[in-house]
Amino acid sequence: MPESPIIKPSHTFILAGGGMAGLSLAYYLHSSKIDFESMLIIDQTIKNTRDKTWCYWSDQAETFDACVEHRWDQLWFHSFANQNDKFSIAPFSYRKIQSDTWYAFVQKELSSNPKVQFLQAKVLGFNYAGRYACVQTDAGKFTATSKIFDSISPYPCELANPKHLKQHFVGLTIETNFPIFEPDAAHLFDFRIAHTKACEFMYVLPTSTRVALFEHTYFSGELKEKEHYIAQIKSYLVGAYGLGEEDYLIVEEEAGIIPMTLSEEDPQNLQAKIIRIGTSGGFVKATTGYSFLRTQRKLIALVENLQTGRFGSVVNESKPFKKWMDRVFLRVLVDQKIKGSRVFESLFQKNKPQLILRFLEEQTTVWEDLKLMTSVPTIPFMQAAFKIALERLPFPKK
Ligand SMILES: Cc1cc2nc3c(=O)[nH]c(=O)nc-3n(C[C@H](O)[C@H](O)[C@H](O)COP(=O)(O)OP(=O)(O)OC[C@H]3O[C@@H](n4cnc5c(N)ncnc54)[C@H](O)[C@@H]3O)c2cc1C
Repeated sequence: MPESPIIKPSHTFILAGGGMAGLSLAYYLHSSKIDFESMLIIDQTIKNTRDKTWCYWSDQAETFDACVEHRWDQLWFHSFANQNDKFSIAPFSYRKIQSDTWYAFVQKELSSNPKVQFLQAKVLGFNYAGRYACVQTDAGKFTATSKIFDSISPYPCELANPKHLKQHFVGLTIETNFPIFEPDAAHLFDFRIAHTKACEFMYVLPTSTRVALFEHTYFSGELKEKEHYIAQIKSYLVGAYGLGEEDYLIVEEEAGIIPMTLSEEDPQNLQAKIIRIGTSGGFVKATTGYSFLRTQRKLIALVENLQTGRFGSVVNESKPFKKWMDRVFLRVLVDQKIKGSRVFESLFQKNKPQLILRFLEEQTTVWEDLKLMTSVPTIPFMQAAFKIALERLPFPKK
């Protein structure tokens, strides 16, 4: 992160956290017509590493397409029963961005703006001084005359709580000694490894005939030791590709724990002085763990609303019916009355992939949603919906 030499104590905007959401917002504010005096981006780390691989699907041009390293127009879906389908997803493409490329791209753009300053410091907390919000760091206190955007506060999802669903994974990028992969299609879900009731699958992104990223992924409440995911990947490489450890080099490693819970908090609006964004603001799609493209869409809308003075607008807009469907879906995955893989298998075997991709991005109509709902095993979904309704009834607490 390019650090500025003298940091003023007061700024129009302060971004606490300069990761994916913080830097994206900085980029949109910098590109907007909003006339701000200065913006301070605070992060405890220097953002220049390849710590994340971001993928998203879209059927149109997106802001950061210039950073896309690879695109796939086809996706594989492998069921537990070894049904292997390769789908064309046109007009969508599945796009991959490496975090180091993206950080460099955004920082280069921001460094051309003298109003933007970077500070490497640890944020210790937030408070108010009169009508202004302040951020306390280990490098001093800073005041925002307009807003603080917080992408560091933890989202309500307990790591040790098995009822709180998380997407958790370890990924290894390997380079083989000989060509073996087909880079024309990504493997979104390989459920052939799903031997437990937890929703687990292998996610494979081949970017050339010799390089691919393998992620052993769970949608479940219970985290595993790192060695577990790595052992699973290594045995998958033997089983699916006949690759022993002498056949490849591990060139990169990444890991993640992404919340898959829905917050019960009242939605934030733009009147607030401190606004949570990114994972912290609940921007992750709870049923998939994806948030890169959603974050872009939500932040573009947020900046548009700031620019046009619509301060009453909600930061993280989601339709109630979509939220209810997510809630039921998550409950089915938590309760494990049915294998998680079965739900995705039914969806992919009975519907066009384009419809599912639009559904997962909350772009489907109510009629399309109802059609999709009839394609999943109905009993566990009805049981989950019933339980949720029962829990929400206003029974007096003992
Ligand atoms: C390995 C990995 C792969 C992912 N892949 C995808 C994907 O393919 N597609 C997708 O849509 N989503 C993906 N995600 C989910 C999501 O897009 C990312 O987690 C994304 O980085 C979230 O953005 P964020 O700004 O909320 O958090 P971050 O990018 O993590 O930014 C938060 C920042 O806050 C800083 N910070 C935290 N605490 C403090 C503090 N006290 N003081 C100062 N700074 C602090 C951190 O250093 C960090 O830079 C992935 C997540 C991970 C972990």
